[in-house]
Amino acid sequence: MSPTLTITPFRSPARGVAQVPGSKSITNRALLLAALAEGETLFTGALFSRDTRILIAALQALGFDVSADEAAQTIRLIGLGGRIPKAQASIHVGNAGTAARFLTAFLALAPGGVYALDGDEAMRARPMAGLLEALRGAGCRAVRADGEPATHFPFTLHTAGRLGALEVDASASSQLLSALLMALPLSPGASVRMKGATVSEPFVAMTEKMCAQFGRPLTRAADGAWRCAQPGPYRAAGTYAIEPDATAASYFIALPAVTGAGASVRLQGYVKDGLQGDTAFADVAARCGATLAPQGAALVVGTWSDLRGGDFDFNDFSDTFLTLATLAPLASSPTTIRNIGHTRKQETDRVLAMATELERLGVRVEPTAAELRADDRLATLTIHPAREALRQAAARGPVEIRTYEDHRMAMSFGILGSFDLFGDGRPWIAIQDPACTSKTFPKFFQALEALRTRFVAVAVDGGAASGKSSTSRAVARDLGLLHVDTGAHYRSVTRALLDGGARPDDIGSVEQALSRLQLGSVVSGVSSGLTLDGRQPADATLRTEDVNATVSRFAALPAVRAFLLAYQRSQVELARSAGFAGVIMEGRDIGSVVLPRAEVRLFLQADPVARAQRRAAEGQADAVAQRDLLDSTRAAAPMVCPEGATRLDNTHLPLAEVVAQVKAMIGTAARLG
Ligand code: C5P
Repeated sequence: MSPTLTITPFRSPARGVAQVPGSKSITNRALLLAALAEGETLFTGALFSRDTRILIAALQALGFDVSADEAAQTIRLIGLGGRIPKAQASIHVGNAGTAARFLTAFLALAPGGVYALDGDEAMRARPMAGLLEALRGAGCRAVRADGEPATHFPFTLHTAGRLGALEVDASASSQLLSALLMALPLSPGASVRMKGATVSEPFVAMTEKMCAQFGRPLTRAADGAWRCAQPGPYRAAGTYAIEPDATAASYFIALPAVTGAGASVRLQGYVKDGLQGDTAFADVAARCGATLAPQGAALVVGTWSDLRGGDFDFNDFSDTFLTLATLAPLASSPTTIRNIGHTRKQETDRVLAMATELERLGVRVEPTAAELRADDRLATLTIHPAREALRQAAARGPVEIRTYEDHRMAMSFGILGSFDLFGDGRPWIAIQDPACTSKTFPKFFQALEALRTRFVAVAVDGGAASGKSSTSRAVARDLGLLHVDTGAHYRSVTRALLDGGARPDDIGSVEQALSRLQLGSVVSGVSSGLTLDGRQPADATLRTEDVNATVSRFAALPAVRAFLLAYQRSQVELARSAGFAGVIMEGRDIGSVVLPRAEVRLFLQADPVARAQRRAAEGQADAVAQRDLLDSTRAAAPMVCPEGATRLDNTHLPLAEVVAQVKAMIGTAARLG
């Protein structure tokens, strides 16, 4: 067991981008579908956990070109349209249910393949029979070491390269069915029918939606069989953003209920109409008082307007019931959570575990833990308001919460412990074995800690190719800051001015063209982009030779600078309202003119040879030195190292080192006293 962790209550509103990992279910489905597609797919926001690593390694062992960048949370995979390079391979699936089932059906698509498959001890006991039997109907044989037909791991799979009309018993796991559904479009004329019913319908729906996302929608006929009307390889998705895990996100929807006025937590990629059933938690939270503002492909959670109880059916999104149950003692009225009987056989008996620990905190629950122990059919839990009782229970120091090897117990009580119960910051909850969160969210407590921060503005100035953009972008991503590239603002305006026929030496033409431009912003990922008349110009159109050659001349005109100044300053408020932990703005005059009071101000520099090489490596013809000369000698807002700013020469420093130094400076500024 890992050492007990005492939770420090939040004495300031939670703020920043919640670092929620990607969904495991989506990551592993997406990998399989992309391998069956024709061409390259880049995944962003991918989950790196034991289960996804196993699938990546298996695909590599089968001859696929897969490269993963864990720090950037990206995976690049080249799909081969249904072809599996290696006809023979040995694969170990650990205890990864998705990898085990999905790969088995996937391998059946190889004509004449022979694959030795094994898993951990626990995996050898998990259900496979339904899938192996179904595949037998297509001439694919799973054979044990003694030559008998296999029903479990380990086995050798002799494959035929087609599916046919299959029947699957998926009563033990919906993954047995999902595995076949994903392989279905690659085998013309194939169909899959279920014998009986399956558990976890939302996951089958997720599979269906993802097959459609990759260009091969499935249809289900009146006879109950799934088919693909237009069979063939999947279509490579280009870039595919893995949704953040909706269950993990529920903790950060809950957090602003307990951290006081002014909270603003941003959940990147959290969309209600996505692939995960657990986003239904957001509706429950809203009924209890959550302030939720969808902003494009993100959800911004503000301080809750209220915290009231209610009566809710959690059957379809039961993984999130613990999140609500731990808020319930702070609510103004009782909370009833229904239809969660099946969670009594998950990581632990979750209903009993929750009731037991709440009672240890002095909270009244119905049924009581003793009643739950006596009757394992009880499937509803009512939790009563109990602020005073909590104070009494914790009067003599933090109460140690037992987590029963259940990651969700640890995370949900971590949120409750973030509430400043005594109003003086005194800790009152400690979590036993906090490392149990590693099952789905290894860095949960770090992610919680990261939201305890002061809003900071960071100004990054420097000459062309001095490393501003790569540094700022990486820092923004790691710290949850909004990244603003003001160079792109000047480039966009230059593009529009050139297109509008304006010339830098004809101020009248410039002023006229400017008067027609409408500025706006669009946030994608952690970057804010300038829109002109509602549209964001494509990056390639901003890095052309004509823009490179004239941007500094337009940027030297006071009219152009005045046109952009208020807009650039407004980005600070945008960052605040969109839930970012701060803003990092890069340019030439940020620390001197745009944000002279920024908490952190930096000036990056590198020697001219290094900078010219960087541009050349990007394939750009850019007269870096010439631009610098114009930028630093102009009268209006010349490029300078602002007084008091930190000068950082990165000629001989790797990017990671520069990023680490900048993050340390920001960390000091953002720390709450
Ligand atoms: O950073 P980037 O090289 O894209 O910037 C393009 C040009 O925009 C600069 O050379 C400069 O003339 C202008 N600029 C500016 N003030 C800023 C940012 C960029 O004058 N804050």
